[in-house]
Amino acid sequence: MKLYTYEELKEFVDHCTHCPLSQTRNRAVMGRGSLNSPILFIAEGPGRNEDRDGIPFTGRSGEVFDRLLTGIGMKREDIYITNIVKCHPPGNRDPFPAEQEACMPYLKYETLLLRPKIIVCLGRIAAQRIIRPDYRIMREHGTFLFRKNVWLTSCYHPSAILRDPSKFSETQNDFHTIYHKLQEYSVAEDCTE
Ligand code: SF4
Repeated sequence: MKLYTYEELKEFVDHCTHCPLSQTRNRAVMGRGSLNSPILFIAEGPGRNEDRDGIPFTGRSGEVFDRLLTGIGMKREDIYITNIVKCHPPGNRDPFPAEQEACMPYLKYETLLLRPKIIVCLGRIAAQRIIRPDYRIMREHGTFLFRKNVWLTSCYHPSAILRDPSKFSETQNDFHTIYHKLQEYSVAEDCTE
């Protein structure tokens, strides 16, 4: 598989017309963050604000996400965040399976660029796409699965926390678990150097 640069990938995404979401989007939203980060967050698709700004996780969901990151001493510059589909589904509906399928190559290229150690799925749609089709986010969030040299986990999508603020503390706990997994990985790396 040819390895594109981030800039080349972004150019493809910005002009992509591979699925019908290209007809209703305002701006395609390429993932963002540090390409050296060991941690990749994946949500389902851009919301209204992201569609306007062309940046993932802005607006109120972005604020919740930033609070969760701050709670474990991290910032956006320390992680990489992207979506399954790069264009906003009208009315904030779930992206259709065919749209997810059409957009998957971009996520695969982003994963190849990043080579993450931990992938965190934000919400049910991302978890069912990345971890397992019958994934139950309410029951399984915060648990880890090791596949192809990468730890996979999930937590609630920040927009779910906005709808039900009681999910915030559970998600904080999940973020702490993610942080500890990251520490374990760093210690293991140090020991092999
Ligand atoms: S959602 Fe993905 S596949 Fe569909 S038009 Fe946007 S970038 Fe292309």
